[in-house]
Amino acid sequence: MSDAPAAPFPIILATRNVKKGREMIGLIAPPWEPNPRLDRLVVLTLDGFPDAPEVVEDADTFAGNARKKASETAQALGQWVIADDSGLTVDALNGEPGVYSARYAGSHGDDDANNRKLLDALASVPDERRGAAFVCSLALSDPSGKIVLESEGACRGRIARQIQGEGGFGYDPLFIIPEYHKTFGELSTLVKHQLSHRARAFERLRPGLEQLLRTR
Ligand code: IMP
Repeated sequence: MSDAPAAPFPIILATRNVKKGREMIGLIAPPWEPNPRLDRLVVLTLDGFPDAPEVVEDADTFAGNARKKASETAQALGQWVIADDSGLTVDALNGEPGVYSARYAGSHGDDDANNRKLLDALASVPDERRGAAFVCSLALSDPSGKIVLESEGACRGRIARQIQGEGGFGYDPLFIIPEYHKTFGELSTLVKHQLSHRARAFERLRPGLEQLLRTR
């Protein structure tokens, strides 16, 4: 038997968003749960890859966008890539804003305008019909662009009647976790990372990732 250390296995996260990249690295291999089966994993973000393509997210499902982003980025870089797509689906709005979550009010990533538009859209909707879910889809592509693993996680809650809390981002200050009677904007990052759609999606991806590392 060889005593040589196991070869590192780099995986690139298809995001340029530093905050999101950091969050995702912590969710793949949570520091509070040491996992020797993931020791070989070296997780990088697109920070170190200035030539990575800007992938257009024009699929009509979260899974479709995650797949597209993972596959096109992997092919362009010749690397293993994990991509995610996520958003908010509101029951009383037939699943809207869904894949348009980031640009619900028009311009991409204007959280304040998106939150205002959502409050307006639900102005006449009573509390018992304000159910919603955050959803996150993940896809892992091999360097040829073939999707080899996929997962989805969801987190259910209720849309508040006004902004509550300043933590998090996006729709967090409107998303009430019923068990806590608080929004993600009011809850600690630690709590959010245990309950969130992204945490659940990574939990579901992990067994496949461990299997992949065993066989490569
Ligand atoms: P993306 O997955 O970064 O494209 O996220 C799309 C949009 O969904 C974000 O701009 C937010 O508006 C919303 N979103 C996704 N995840 C969260 C979350 O954890 N909290 C609040 N909003 C989120």
